[in-house]
Amino acid sequence: MEYRDLKKQYQVLKADIDAGITDCCTKAQFIGGAPVKELEQQLAEYCGVKHCISCANGTDALQLPLMVWGIGAGDVVFVPDFTYFSSGEVVGAVGATPVFVDVDPATYNMDPVKLGKAIEKVLSDGKYTPKAVIAVDLFGLPADFDAIRPICKKYGLYLLEDGAQGFGGELHGAKACSFGDISTTSFFPAKPVGCYGDGGAIFTNNDEWADLLRSYAVHGKGADKYDNIRIGMNSRLDTVQAAVLKVKVKAFSDYELADINKVAKLYTELFEGTDLVLPFIPDDYLSSWAQYTVRLPKSVDRADLQAKLKEKGIPSMIYYKKPMHKQGAFAGTYSENADCPVTDEICDTVLSLPLDPYKTEADVKAVVEAIKAYL
Ligand SMILES: *Cc1c(COP(=O)(O)O)cnc(C)c1O
Repeated sequence: MEYRDLKKQYQVLKADIDAGITDCCTKAQFIGGAPVKELEQQLAEYCGVKHCISCANGTDALQLPLMVWGIGAGDVVFVPDFTYFSSGEVVGAVGATPVFVDVDPATYNMDPVKLGKAIEKVLSDGKYTPKAVIAVDLFGLPADFDAIRPICKKYGLYLLEDGAQGFGGELHGAKACSFGDISTTSFFPAKPVGCYGDGGAIFTNNDEWADLLRSYAVHGKGADKYDNIRIGMNSRLDTVQAAVLKVKVKAFSDYELADINKVAKLYTELFEGTDLVLPFIPDDYLSSWAQYTVRLPKSVDRADLQAKLKEKGIPSMIYYKKPMHKQGAFAGTYSENADCPVTDEICDTVLSLPLDPYKTEADVKAVVEAIKAYL
């Protein structure tokens, strides 16, 4: 069994994907061009946001807004302690200081109450200036924007939605990547919508930020690309990736998102009554299921379970083993001794299971039976 079966997906979408790639090669169109423009329009429409700016990957997609907002030395950006490294890395990359905030034990997303406390602590310490919050839509579930947005407003902080895993998710019927002042996603192959290499996108309704994002993403360009008015970076989405993504986004919105929800629902039904802590999707939320992550009882030897599953041909992954504040890269920083007991605990017990829209009932049953037998 594949963890996320991109080979099977390719067989289904092969004719259209091959045609898109061949067209780029035939026209020798590798940077920019119609596929990139059309994809940006398709993505903006799908997410219900005015501007979509494609870029080279989901990490640049997070860093570029911080550059647009002029965030740097002396500034603090609040980031969940339980996330992929990039969410905190970009804060350090612009010279600012990440402050890691513990997560909710049911949704694994940033705990808004603890966010409020973290902001108050930074203010009372008086060493740094709070500037922004990066709210991550972890495992496909949008963050608690109903609670986080008013906190950002109260303290005058920018809200950056890291939708790298959240693309396709919903809150109150609105799509992920529409909840931040600026929102971002990643098209890394294993994400809910992936390309055939690296790719990313940035979303905003703000015209001025959209212009600045396009400038920073292409060497700080001014009126034309040989007029460079600020220090930016080289972060474009390749035309070939855009051609692949046009096909993938359509399949995702036509049926993949619905199908992966069915697969996840089946997991949850079949695991009912076990000692596992199952994913929790609050009312009025839709997950795009970047991961199906369970929590094992503390008594279970996770490495041994993974080895036994592997013997049966069942892959599993651990997202994430280490809290952000314990990553070596942040040693000696303000957040080194962050108090995040929930993250500490879940890092030791989470296990993510094989999941994609093409998994069959038999696939899911095989995984569930193997885990039940072990427990
Ligand atoms: C994957 C991921 C990123 C980074 O995306 P890349 O395209 O790999 O640079 C950022 N944040 C989160 C939460 C992610 O899962």
